[in-house]
Amino acid sequence: MTKKELLRGIPKIDEVMRQDPLVVLSEEKGSLLVTEAVREVIADLRASILALEDGGAESFDPAALGLAAVADAAAKRLLLDEELNLYPVINATGTILHTNLGRAPLCKGAVENVAKVSAGYSDLEYNVPKGKRGSRHDLVGDLIAELTGAEDAMVVNNNAAATMIVLASMGAGKEIVVSRGELVEIGGAFRIPDIMMQSGAYLQEVGTSNKTKASDYENAIVTKKDLADPSFNAGDPRHGMRFETGALMKVHKSNYDIVGFTEEATLEELVEIGKKHDLPVIFDMGNGLMLDMSAYGLSEPNIPASLATGIDVMLFSGDKLLGGPQAGIIVGKKKYIKAMKKHPLARAMRVDKMTFAALEATLMKYRDPEMALRDIPVLNMISASEDEMKEKAGRLVNAISRIAPEIKTEIVPVLDQIGGGSAPMVRLPGWAVAVWDGTKSADRTERKLRKAEIPVIARINDDKLLLCVRTIAEDELEAVAEALK
Ligand SMILES: *Cc1c(COP(=O)(O)O)cnc(C)c1O
Repeated sequence: MTKKELLRGIPKIDEVMRQDPLVVLSEEKGSLLVTEAVREVIADLRASILALEDGGAESFDPAALGLAAVADAAAKRLLLDEELNLYPVINATGTILHTNLGRAPLCKGAVENVAKVSAGYSDLEYNVPKGKRGSRHDLVGDLIAELTGAEDAMVVNNNAAATMIVLASMGAGKEIVVSRGELVEIGGAFRIPDIMMQSGAYLQEVGTSNKTKASDYENAIVTKKDLADPSFNAGDPRHGMRFETGALMKVHKSNYDIVGFTEEATLEELVEIGKKHDLPVIFDMGNGLMLDMSAYGLSEPNIPASLATGIDVMLFSGDKLLGGPQAGIIVGKKKYIKAMKKHPLARAMRVDKMTFAALEATLMKYRDPEMALRDIPVLNMISASEDEMKEKAGRLVNAISRIAPEIKTEIVPVLDQIGGGSAPMVRLPGWAVAVWDGTKSADRTERKLRKAEIPVIARINDDKLLLCVRTIAEDELEAVAEALK
């Protein structure tokens, strides 16, 4: 066939649209998108025919111009166009709070509540019993107070936002005293000194990298009286300009540890100094651990215990060890929280009904710690016993030998991690299934797993491809085996 004949052979759009599969698709999705897909397929065909070398027309298969073939190509294009960029994956890395994989998976109750609350209208800012305007800030305040012992609470977008509004509200134009050993960088440009600068507060570093004593905080306090004294800091330009102290702040060393010759001030010591000098104490806790999990190797501070030391304001993430949606939760004394709710930044940082729906349902679980450990995926994964995981690994091996029998497997012990910049030194003994296929390298199998319908993200250790079962849900085992096929 010549180029001209091929071009003449291209079908008309309405002819293609009358093909059965496209008639069905048009009913389902409306004809606009289907027509557009057909138009694109036809334009591509025309372009590739025009691009043929003179005399090269023989290389073009005229079957591609058949009505059924064009309709089929259009249907495929339509489905590809509909693929979303945000989709589920299976986490086989054994890292529980995997930052790249969305940190905490939500509990079932939270997911159901999000669907229930966000599909229609809700009482987000309406007090139904009173029949008048309400506040979204009241939605979880009482529950958080019940669980933590805090006087009041406020929810913002994430803990970075919480840090920002706490500092802006309590420290703008004032000095906030922080230990040199606690000037953390969390990642993604979140650094305490930078956030401090943005908030309008002045960072007053005290102590050294490895040792900060309680007295270091106390010695750094600047009062109004100091500032009124002309001899204060006079003649020593190294002190620079000083401002009145606004608060003492402790930041949890979330993603690193300092070992060796070390010392840090405890929350109790800071509370005592705060009381003596009438200064609030702030604790950026980060991880949001609500329960004592030391039985599971996690010796991190928890929220109620930290608050019980008498600190004034504390902040943490909703989607680290709390196991809920992305959020920053600020708890503490009413007078400080009240001022934050009225701060101009509050509106810019407020969260949506979907977040409240997920958060309230997650927090409800904590009314019974046993229920929290069972139902909140993050806690469930941390507390999973080695025997349980070894059995799960066995079930994965069975699924693989049934679905992808050519794959060789071995059950091996592994050390899993909390992740998400939390508890960096903790290693949780777990179990994994090592998989290999004689002819393929671990890298190739790893790539294959990522290309599966539900991508599986695995761990490579010593050239071995590991599927760590701690982070694989029971109902995902089959899909992992499918991905290996
Ligand atoms: C994680 C963390 C943050 C930032 O929280 P996001 O929820 O990621 O915004 C701030 N401070 C500390 C101590 C943290 O651990």
